[in-house]
Amino acid sequence: MDIRSRFGLRPVINASGTMTSLGASSVSAPVIDAVAQVLPQFVEIDDLQRRASAAIAEACGSEAGYITASCSAAITLCIAATMTGDDPGLIERLPDTASLERHEVAIQTGHLVNYGAPVDQAIRLSGARVVPVGAATEAHGYQLNTAITERTAAALYVVSHHTVQFGMIPLEEFIAVAHAKGVPVIVDAASEYDLKRFIAAGADLALYSAHKFLGGLTAGIVAGKKALIRAAYFQNGGIGRGMKVGKEGIVGAIAALEQWQRRDHVAVRARERGYLTLWRETLNRCDGVWAEIDADPTGNPLDRLKLHIDPKQARITAWDLADALARPPEGEVPVIVRDHEAELHFFFLDPCNLHPGEEQIVLARLTAELERARQSPEPVVTPFYQRDARRIAARRNWPD
Ligand SMILES: *Cc1c(COP(=O)(O)O)cnc(C)c1O
Repeated sequence: MDIRSRFGLRPVINASGTMTSLGASSVSAPVIDAVAQVLPQFVEIDDLQRRASAAIAEACGSEAGYITASCSAAITLCIAATMTGDDPGLIERLPDTASLERHEVAIQTGHLVNYGAPVDQAIRLSGARVVPVGAATEAHGYQLNTAITERTAAALYVVSHHTVQFGMIPLEEFIAVAHAKGVPVIVDAASEYDLKRFIAAGADLALYSAHKFLGGLTAGIVAGKKALIRAAYFQNGGIGRGMKVGKEGIVGAIAALEQWQRRDHVAVRARERGYLTLWRETLNRCDGVWAEIDADPTGNPLDRLKLHIDPKQARITAWDLADALARPPEGEVPVIVRDHEAELHFFFLDPCNLHPGEEQIVLARLTAELERARQSPEPVVTPFYQRDARRIAARRNWPD
């Protein structure tokens, strides 16, 4: 029996990508097996993390690495590391940074995003102060240069579809400016497929989520310079205690890294391409729909279907359609689409987390909802601001 029915949970189909709110990823059998093997056993965590360091060093081309509870925790702990080094007295003093000469973190304003929580909060949680660089849609190397002072502990660079995708300081220049002033660069690459690129570009630390594309258990992967990795790891005796990762998360991440290196990426891509083509061909025949295959904005080898919905012709808005798919009539399967830009009259179908056969259900549900809208006496057009308010209101009653 599916544990979801036993717990009374809706068996959702995830066409939105890797979302914490949907349980992150589908963990593969070899990873589940490795985790199941360690769960009843005792291990020496320092040794397990030493093993993780070797696995990360190999996968990322870094000197060392370790596993955290999440990428968000990794941001906090790595910033902490740049402030305290490996001094246990300073580590225990955080988040009080009054006595620390270096306690500021430079980050481009266009990188101050929310990935489920604000990135600046993950920085501030360590006790550091955030120093925004440039304007929301424009930043320059000279601004970073001025922002870095004798108080700067680190510079943080975020790689994500959430960030402003133009007008930002290129990573290479960002690293060059920071390094010229002796300041380490941390790259938040939570959702990036390329495990080597950021370390190869000169980043001192590169941070990934183990539970996103890698398909591990919920955890964070930190790769980088040995001294900084050590200082970040030692934060577990300080502010990191409340963010601790267990043996299952560490083993899950090591196994996920091994699986990733063995994965048949070409076959996965071809399967996803098949889903995208099927969806595009069929949906382009529906009134008011224009579907195109869209490359991942940060360059991950992953495409999505971008579905533009003309509310006049389709008689439903993109956001009402996304909501209808997520909240279907009794007996139909909920489909969650990638709709964070729905106010612009499009949403995406992300194939990366679909189980075989689900691509057909996604398509059937979409065509059924479009047909329902076509036949509805009134067009389905909720003002966008009401949708947002309704969502926030609905969540406020949790757990009711
Ligand atoms: C998902 C994400 C995070 C948070 O990662 P977790 O491992 O879920 O904590 C941080 N930064 C970016 C850019 C992300 O996409």
